[in-house]
Order: sequence, then C-alpha cells, then structure tokens
Amino acid sequence: MSLSPETLALVEGLRRGERRALAKSITLLESTRRDDRVRADALLNELLPSTGRSCRLGISGVPGAGKSTFIEALGLYLIERGHRVAVLAVDPSSSRSGGSVLGDKTRMERLSVQPAAYIRPSPSSGTLGGVAEKTREAMLACEAAGFDIIIIETVGVGQSEIAVAGMTDVFVLLQLPNAGDELQAIKRGVMEVADMIVINKADLDADAATRARAMITSALRTFSLHGRGDSQPPVLQLSALKGEGIADFWTAAGQIVAERHASGAFTERRRSQALSWMWDNVHARLLADFHAHPGVRAALPSVLQDVNEAKVAPSAAARALLELFKH
Ligand code: GDP
Repeated sequence: MSLSPETLALVEGLRRGERRALAKSITLLESTRRDDRVRADALLNELLPSTGRSCRLGISGVPGAGKSTFIEALGLYLIERGHRVAVLAVDPSSSRSGGSVLGDKTRMERLSVQPAAYIRPSPSSGTLGGVAEKTREAMLACEAAGFDIIIIETVGVGQSEIAVAGMTDVFVLLQLPNAGDELQAIKRGVMEVADMIVINKADLDADAATRARAMITSALRTFSLHGRGDSQPPVLQLSALKGEGIADFWTAAGQIVAERHASGAFTERRRSQALSWMWDNVHARLLADFHAHPGVRAALPSVLQDVNEAKVAPSAAARALLELFKH
C-alpha cells in the first residue's frame, strides 16, 4: 500500500519523536471516517516494524484509588531514569457521557509538563470495544515515536479491565487499604487477569494496608489461577502520594517481565494479543457493515417488531437478516 504525502509526513515526524506528529497520528487513528480509516491502516502498517519494543503497563482501580497519583509518581520516577513515558486511557464512561474521566492532563500536572512524557486523554466516542481499539492503535503510534513505557489506565469495571489486560504486558490492580473489609471489586475475572495487586494509600493506615495485603494474598490463593503460566501475582503496598514504594513496584514489575521473557510467555502473550486484536477488528467491522447494509436496514424495523411480539423466533430472525446481508 503506498502512502499519501501527508501520511508519509506523519511517519517521518513520528520517527523523529515529534509530539505534534504523534498527536495528529492519534487523531487520524481515532477518526471514524472511512477514508481516514484507510489512511490509518496504511499508517499502522508502516509503523509496525518500529513498534512493540516498549513495556506496556495496564493500571486499573476504582475512582479514587489513586490511579493518576500513582501514574504520575511512577512516570516521574521512570523519566528520571531516562525513560520516555506515554499515558493512555480506556474510559468505559466516555462513550456514554462524551466526556473523559481518565488520562486528563489536569490530573497529572507535574507529569504532563515533562518533555519525556506524553499524556493523551481517552477517545470520547465509540463503544467500549471501539475505544479500547483506538487505545491499542494509539499505543503503537507512541511506540513508533520512541516512548518505551506505555501506561494504559482504566477504571474498575470488569469489561474495560479485561480489555486493558488484553493489550498490556503487565496488568496492575490498584486497591485501597480497606480492601480487606469487603474485598472491594475483587472479582474473580479481574483477579485472573491481574499480574500485580497494589494497595495504595498505605500512609493513611499502615496496619490496614498490611491486613488488606494478607487478606488479598489469601483470597488469591483460593482462586484457582492455574493456566496463568506463572506464580501467584505479588501483592505490594505503597503510597503514591508520598512516592513510597514506587521503586519496589518497578522492580517487581521488571521481575515479572524478565521471568516471562525467559519462559517465552512474553512473546506468546504478545502474539495471542495481536491475533485477538485482529479478530476483534474483523468482528467489529463485520458488525458495522451489517448495520450499514441497505437490505438489512430496510428490513430491520419489521424484523425487530416481529421478534418483540414473539411472532418470529430470534434465531429465525437472525438467519433472515444474515441472508439479506449476504446479498
Ligand atoms: P483516581 O481516581 O484513581 O485517579 O485517584 P486520584 O489519583 O485522583 O486520587 C484520589 C485522591 O486520593 C486524591 O485526593 C489523591 O491525592 C489521594 N491519594 C492518592 N494516592 C494517595 C496515597 O498514596 N496516600 C494518600 N493519603 N492519598 C492518596
């Protein structure tokens, strides 16, 4: 596929690490216009060889758990050590409210002014799948622009956590020290994808944090985590606000990555993520084509009514619609 001069200019700007080219590229990737999509796919293809060499870190937790405080502290710590850090978000609420809760520049003021940091607010349109999809693509653009640590933030609602775990190398669940009381939001599905559990705000009540850590550790043991390919996720406690425990966190994350590299699990995870990304795309585009199909559109209102009124079995209605779609 040959690149248009504008797309080529974006690629060259990205290779030079230019933030403006990065912002423009991500805007192109987020566009829902069909002609933009063709350019976006060409751009991604061109960038692919210069992607994949970053460490991709997912961070989740309920609102108020301290995600942005933690990401800022970690980001500053990493930049001091010579890294370039990009922060992206998958925001499940943005598709409904049109506003963005996560990845706001204003939430990470000290990090956002760093030349070695790039913070992109979450895309504000599309379904959860669509938003997650755009974040995955933005991640590649950041990697091509030379960011070697990509942090993807999301809030603690199951589906978006699974989506973020599915696009990162290490997925971290941030908890509050009172987690022990009710095991807040530690749902089995999320536990299964968490690579690390971090109890934040340990400065508020060290005893509570230690209790929470013990409870979470034993809860983890009761989940059967076979098939993960590695050991039980470490449970750490820290204070994002005071910057205490950040170095230990980074060491523990590095250990997980090193172990997975050694066992081959790292490459395998990336490989299967790329495949499910492709299938997600196929499903999403098929569904979009289905809804845009003139025959389907014309028939849909009466088919819906028939199903509503129980005149036609849902399976028969689906078959009829799919027959129309084939023609
Ligand atoms: P988010 O909604 O998960 O992004 O949470 P924020 O990072 O915005 O933090 C929510 C509140 O908790 C803010 O007032 C932070 O200052 C505070 N906070 C975050 N981390 C800590 C911490 O380690 N200790 C204490 N005491 N407060 C914290």
